[in-house]
Amino acid sequence: MGVEFYSALPANPPADLALIIDNRELREQIGLTDEDLNKIQSYCLSPNANDFDTFAMVYAGHQFGQFVNQLGDGRGIFLGQTNHDYDLHLKGAGKTPYSRFGDGRAVLRSSIREYIASEVMNNLNIPSTRAVALFISEEKVLRDSYESSAVLLRSSQSHIRFGHFEFFHYRNKSKQVKKLADYAIENYSLFNESAEEPYVNFFQTIVQKTAQMISKWQGVGFCHGVMNTDNFSILGETFDYGPYAFMESLNPEFICNTSDYEGRYRYSNQPYIGLWNCSALGEALKTLIPEAKIEEILKTYEQEFSSNLRRIYLDKLGLTDHQPGDDELIQDYLSLINNEKLDYTQSFRSLIKILKEEDLIKSSVSLEKWKKRFLKRHEFEKSDLRDRLDMMKSINPHITPKNFQIQKVIDAVEKGNYEALHSFCDAFKNPFEENSKTQIFDEVPGENEANIRTSCSS
Ligand code: AMP
Ligand code: MG
Repeated sequence: MGVEFYSALPANPPADLALIIDNRELREQIGLTDEDLNKIQSYCLSPNANDFDTFAMVYAGHQFGQFVNQLGDGRGIFLGQTNHDYDLHLKGAGKTPYSRFGDGRAVLRSSIREYIASEVMNNLNIPSTRAVALFISEEKVLRDSYESSAVLLRSSQSHIRFGHFEFFHYRNKSKQVKKLADYAIENYSLFNESAEEPYVNFFQTIVQKTAQMISKWQGVGFCHGVMNTDNFSILGETFDYGPYAFMESLNPEFICNTSDYEGRYRYSNQPYIGLWNCSALGEALKTLIPEAKIEEILKTYEQEFSSNLRRIYLDKLGLTDHQPGDDELIQDYLSLINNEKLDYTQSFRSLIKILKEEDLIKSSVSLEKWKKRFLKRHEFEKSDLRDRLDMMKSINPHITPKNFQIQKVIDAVEKGNYEALHSFCDAFKNPFEENSKTQIFDEVPGENEANIRTSCSS
């Protein structure tokens, strides 16, 4: 790629970084050895320009619906790629030409949040960037008050965002738009290089993957919080974790980001924003794909999203095929959970017990009525009950990380208890499994701890 896409510069990380969590399993998958990690840590302690060809990328983006013509890695430094072609990115590693008013730092709290979310999402089978390692520094940074700083080592096959294309498109630099698309098509196996119309295939694939990703978010009750086009990956991976939340009591109007004053990114609006972002990308690809074709592809989003979401809810209910009345059965359950302010994750997990007729909880009259309909519906299922239960166990997580729990982990790490972070992440290695390790998740949120919302400050 040419220099118009980035600025080469060394990292300038906070002082005395110490490794507090190392994702060995992931390192094996992406081809990053102990020696490589040591080299990265040494580089962070004393950046030497000869060790890595580091750079920060420039992009633009629609933030809360408004176009901002220049953004970029304001605190992210690209370190290079692993032997298995995964990008390595240091987040919180110093100022860059794109830092605007920022200090190039990341606070410990937001770095822990990103580490946890990336790994949990992956373990929930939802595409996500990954967290390789987390380093903590003694250096304090000023947000509302002085806070600890950290550096996250992130990996993904690509760090190309929708906003990269927007940056060049709105400067009338169609050559660069083409160059970037060619690079992506050539380098990422997701795209079909030999398709008859490679750019059409490229855009169609992104639209499809985005719709699929968001249907998975909805299924698990994940709220992203900052669905700006600069936070959307062309691979359809969940990208740039900020003030996210995993839904506690179901509330479609939940806004997890306190900086989102109009609720643009509320849970119920996420599917629409996914489409909005795809059309923003379509606009930026206008010089490569005929407009009518872009419109045609955008029209496929809704069908892709709805059919995926329907399949997810059928699986969550343990239903093999879609039968008339199933949509109502699903919708009525969601309405009941919403009206009765029940925990989203637990309500779906409890369907397993209901189906096994081991459910001892006496619920409201309406819920009892619904349970009868649910059991009746299963009488029409031809597949083995065990297979249906297995399916339900593999899609209804036993636990999701709630903000109040994550906050407890952050508080512990701030006090030097890194073990709290390790055991929390261990519990989420398999969020579908009920085991003794996960008992801490039975704790109910204390007063003012339910549905904690966070801000963009990070
Ligand atoms: P985000 O909301 O984290 O996606 O960031 C939006 C933009 O602000 C991106 O261009 C970031 O690189 C930049 N940014 C966020 N925090 C900082 C910071 N502390 N220093 C410099 N740039 C930042
Ligand atoms: Mg971002």
